Amino acid sequence: MAKGEIIIDENKCRGCGYCVLFCKQGCIVMSEDRFTPLGYLLPVVSHPDKCNACGICGMMCPHYAVEVYKFI
Ligand code: SF4
Ligand code: SF4
Repeated sequence: MAKGEIIIDENKCRGCGYCVLFCKQGCIVMSEDRFTPLGYLLPVVSHPDKCNACGICGMMCPHYAVEVYKFI
């Protein structure tokens, strides 16, 4: 299975949590104490080892803040 890595652009993120909601691998959680430069709660990758590069988080982000990298 492919492995993935995601990068979240803090300057684009608006803290909606869609990436957390739609990652079925449970890789992402909303931080309770980290904020974007605009003051939104920031999602963080809590389980990077589980990412399979499916790309759903990137597709669901309404602000194009998630880049997904796939390693074969
Ligand atoms: S690429 Fe898929 S598995 Fe990886 S963090 Fe995004 S939704 Fe989760
Ligand atoms: S879906 Fe995009 S804007 Fe929403 S919390 Fe995730 S990275 Fe931020």
